[in-house]
Amino acid sequence: MDSKKTPTPPKSVLDESRQIDRAVSLIEMGARLQVLESETDLSYERLLRLYKEVAGRSPSKGQLPFSTDWFLTWQPNIHASLFQNIHAYLSRSSADLENVDVMIKAYGLYTEQVQANGVEPLLTITRAWRLVRFIKNGMLKMVSCTRCGGHFVADTYENPRHFVCGLCEPPARAGKGAGAANGVHLQ
Ligand SMILES: [Zn+2]
Repeated sequence: MDSKKTPTPPKSVLDESRQIDRAVSLIEMGARLQVLESETDLSYERLLRLYKEVAGRSPSKGQLPFSTDWFLTWQPNIHASLFQNIHAYLSRSSADLENVDVMIKAYGLYTEQVQANGVEPLLTITRAWRLVRFIKNGMLKMVSCTRCGGHFVADTYENPRHFVCGLCEPPARAGKGAGAANGVHLQ
């Protein structure tokens, strides 16, 4: 199991209230409890209580998704890439925001954009959080498509000289389902 870090108590009432706001946003977006534990200094007991209060149920148990595979399958890759493009843009343009707030904001914009196109968000907030970490740790990277120039999430060994994205070259089996991803543009 992972080593339990003892959370440092929040520094001030203001800081604590900021952390509660963050936790509430994350819970409303459907984040798993592990994300809250990692992104706030609130104690496990408080987070659990907050979770039940906001979500109206106990948090789901079980392991977080640990593999990078999901992000590389066709439709999830398009969603993950859209989120990551928004996230990268916000990270550059909002230097005053803390990392966790950039993620929350980027996730909100991602869901807004796909829903405006009549597409269900495939990427959960928990996966978005993993994605940011995978990219930071160099387990995934961003590559430009040689045809459309959009930026896509790719495996670290992907050769950027030959990379063609899933929108320019959808898999044959995609067929009619391809429409579901077409509302999403990455340029
Ligand atoms: Zn492309």
